[in-house]
Amino acid sequence: MVDARTEEIGRNLVQVRARIAAACAAAGRSPDEVTLVAVTKTYPARDVTRLAELGVHDVGENRDQEAGPKAEAVGDPAVRWHFVGQLQRNKARSVVRYASAVHSVDSLRLVDALVDAAVKAERPGPLDALVQVSLDDDEHRGGAVTGMVEQVAAAIAASPSLRLRGVMAVAPLDWEADDAFARLAAIAGRIRQRFPDAGWISAGMSNDLESAILHGSTHVRVGSALLGNRTPLG
Ligand SMILES: *Cc1c(COP(=O)(O)O)cnc(C)c1O
Repeated sequence: MVDARTEEIGRNLVQVRARIAAACAAAGRSPDEVTLVAVTKTYPARDVTRLAELGVHDVGENRDQEAGPKAEAVGDPAVRWHFVGQLQRNKARSVVRYASAVHSVDSLRLVDALVDAAVKAERPGPLDALVQVSLDDDEHRGGAVTGMVEQVAAAIAASPSLRLRGVMAVAPLDWEADDAFARLAAIAGRIRQRFPDAGWISAGMSNDLESAILHGSTHVRVGSALLGNRTPLG
C-alpha cells in the first residue's frame, strides 16, 4: 500500500530524475555522475522515510535544530544526511553525530570546531567535508571568499577526522546561473589540482540544476521540485 503523499513524491521524483538525465545527456555526461540530494527542510521525518522507500538515500538539511531530531526519528542507517546550511560552530558537536557530509564549511574556525567535534564523537570514519564558496564574495550569505577557499580546503585535508570532498555553492540571486556555476567549476578545478580526491561539486537546486550539471555538478540539492513549495517561515 502506497499512500497518496508517497505517490506525489514519486511523481515529482520521476520528473526530477528525467531533468537530471536530460541535462546529463545535453552535457555529454552519465547520470551516474550526479547524486540527487533531496533537501527535506521544513518537511517531516515521514517524508524522508518515503524518499528512502523510493530509493533516495541522500537527504539534505540546513538547520541543526530541525535536522538532529529528524535524523533520530528516521533512524535509518541507510539514509545519508548532508548538512547544507550555514553552520554555527556551537552546533558542530550535534551535526557530527548524524551527518555523513557537511557541504557548508567556510572558515578555518569552523574546520577546527568540526575536527574537535568529530574526534570527540568517535565517529567510525571521517566526516565528508566540502568548502562552501561565496561566488560573489558576499560573506553574509555564507561561503568562503576568494583567497580563503584554498586555505579552508587545506585545513580540511590536513585533518584525519575530515575528508575533503570538494566544493559547494549557491548561485547568487542576481547572477545568471551559468555565470555562477562556470565560476564554481573553475574554482573546483583549481582545488582538484592540489587535492585530486576532492572531486565533488555540490551545485544546483530546483530552479537551476540543468545549468549546474552543464558545469560539472556531481551533487544537486533539490527541495521544492521533489516535496513541494515550502511555506515561508513567518
Ligand atoms: C533549501 C536549499 C536547497 C533546495 O532548494 P530548492 O529550491 O527547494 O530546491 C538547496 N541548497 C541549500 C543550501 C538550501 O538551503
